[in-house]
Amino acid sequence: MVENERLRQEMRRCEAELQELRAKPAGPCPGCEHSQESAQLRDKLSQLQLEMAESKGMLSELNLEVQQKTDRLAEVELRLKDCLAEKAQEEERLSRRLRDSHETIASLRAQSPPVKYVIKTVEVESPKTKQALSESQARNQHLQEQVAMQRQVLKEMEQQLQSSHQLTARLRAQIAMYESELERAHGQMLEEMQSLEEDKNRAIEEAFARAQVEMKAVHENLAGVRTNLLTLQPALRTLTNDYNGLKRQVRGFPLLLQEALRSVKAEIGQAIEEVNSNNQELLRKYRRELQLRKKCHNELVRLKGNIRVIARVRPVTKEDGEGPEATNAVTFDADDDSIIHLLHKGKPVSFELDKVFSPQASQQDVFQEVQALITSCIDGFNVCIFAYGQTGAGKTYTMEGTPENPGINQRALQLLFSEVQEKASDWEYTITVSAAEIYNEVLRDLLGKEPQEKLEIRLCPDGSGQLYVPGLTEFQVQSVDDINKVFEFGHTNRTTEFTNLNEHSSRSHALLIVTVRGMDCSTGLRTTGKLNLVDLAGSERVGKSGAEGSRLREAQHINKSLSALGDVIAALRSRQGHVPFRNSKLTYLLQDSLSGDSKTLMVVQVSPVEKNTSETLYSLKFAERVRSVELGPGLRRAELGSWSSQEHLEWEPACQTPQPSARAHSAPSSGTSSRPGSIRRKLQPSA
Ligand code: ADP
Ligand code: MG
Repeated sequence: MVENERLRQEMRRCEAELQELRAKPAGPCPGCEHSQESAQLRDKLSQLQLEMAESKGMLSELNLEVQQKTDRLAEVELRLKDCLAEKAQEEERLSRRLRDSHETIASLRAQSPPVKYVIKTVEVESPKTKQALSESQARNQHLQEQVAMQRQVLKEMEQQLQSSHQLTARLRAQIAMYESELERAHGQMLEEMQSLEEDKNRAIEEAFARAQVEMKAVHENLAGVRTNLLTLQPALRTLTNDYNGLKRQVRGFPLLLQEALRSVKAEIGQAIEEVNSNNQELLRKYRRELQLRKKCHNELVRLKGNIRVIARVRPVTKEDGEGPEATNAVTFDADDDSIIHLLHKGKPVSFELDKVFSPQASQQDVFQEVQALITSCIDGFNVCIFAYGQTGAGKTYTMEGTPENPGINQRALQLLFSEVQEKASDWEYTITVSAAEIYNEVLRDLLGKEPQEKLEIRLCPDGSGQLYVPGLTEFQVQSVDDINKVFEFGHTNRTTEFTNLNEHSSRSHALLIVTVRGMDCSTGLRTTGKLNLVDLAGSERVGKSGAEGSRLREAQHINKSLSALGDVIAALRSRQGHVPFRNSKLTYLLQDSLSGDSKTLMVVQVSPVEKNTSETLYSLKFAERVRSVELGPGLRRAELGSWSSQEHLEWEPACQTPQPSARAHSAPSSGTSSRPGSIRRKLQPSA
């Protein structure tokens, strides 16, 4: 135990040392195999100690058992002694009684002859003696019985003694057996104890040896760490110096950074301010430029006139045939592109218009002329472009053109798309198109599902004075593809409706209405501009003969609407108080696109050949008259009057053209024409 204690102490010391080593910050190899082994050893040691404790427990148990057995043995011995003592007493008592009995017997033997004698004598001598003899004999008998009984008892006692001896021997044997068992158990226990002790010693030795090896390794490691530490120290010193230097620098860094940030922020702020002010300036300039552009544009259009009339002469075609009838009767002025000469029935007649396009002029050339009008539509102006002329003079060609060489319609929409695209950063635009036809004073939707349905023109219920056509289909378009689809749809509608489209289209007005709605993204300002592209019905007059029924009715309607158009344009140009818009469906429909700041262009189509000179003359006269209305107010009235009457005179009486009520309305009244300014205001309440 002392040795154990000593070893334990040493182990404890070792463990403490180990723990100390482990606690060192720069352990060479934390979790190395030695520590693992040591842990294992420690485990084993504790296990052994546990086993030893168990053995000790067992030993003490055995000791207790031995003690108990010894006690029991002592008890048994005591009992045995008692038994022996008792037996000795009993023996003694019995031997005493035996002795007494012997003595009695001897005394009785000694007494018996006199008795016999007495008996004999008694027998001889007397009954009295006889009785005494029998009594004595009885007594003798009794005594003999008693002796026998005593002998029996003695025998029993002897037997008892014998059995007692036997018991004693048995008990002794048992005791010997117990003793030997005890001795054996003791020997076993001693053996066990010895083996346990040996085990314990061995384990302790092993653990100690291992701990020593471990300790050695740990010591070695420690030495390595120490040397490492020694070599690391200078490096650490320089690192500490560096660190301190850096720390000093870092301490100064936030200030530096803040300084830099402040200056950069200031610079950026300044730059942003500059950019902002520049932007503002640019925006201001841009707005001014826009205003200026609009103004210039307006001025240009004003200079050219809000209502302009141009002529386009188509080339001679195969359809014109050959011979003298198909010869060219139209010539131009090389120095002035607004003059056109016509040789009518051998007489040369000249007309001056805003511009004259020769047959060589391309679709693009013509479009160039109308381009400004179309762009003004984006700025919110309403625009009307009419193609006027006899059938076959090229109205449809100018307005629609051919797929390879499109006319004003498609080019205008294309231009609108590109203009809208250009302004997309500041403005949001939607472009919608409607197509309608006026035939015999009936308005029909060419894009609707029910093209036969009659449409009505109504005044907007919002009190703006604007007109609208309930049920007129409007398609939003975003690309040339969309336009083509819309046009195709319109054509299909018209073709299925009328078997002879050419004839029908020459007797009806075809309208393409393009609406451009815009919103200025920065100001929220909204604009709406309408572009009306009208392919008018043929202007040819119906001959005296042959005009009957439906053809006559058609002619009357065409005449009525074209005269009404002339009247309206004349009234607008002469700034009359009353403009007879309601005299025809066409003028009524286009009312808001003709009045106010609206711009109108009349393209008078001319056929160049000899056989058409009469109609050509009529068309050019119409053109010149429309154009020349814009002279002085007084003159205007005079001109207008003469034109109306002249036109009236030129109509064939066979047509029985009713006197258009427009004329009565358009007739000037001295009261209204004297103050054009106030009239203008009346005309455009919404402007
Ligand atoms: P309208 O619509 O006035 O009845 P069209 O536009 O149908 O007349 O023209 C009649 C014919 O003349 C068509 O075949 C058309 O292609 C041709 N035409 C008209 N103007 C020109 C032109 N400027 N260049 C070439 N062909 C033309
Ligand atoms: Mg046509």
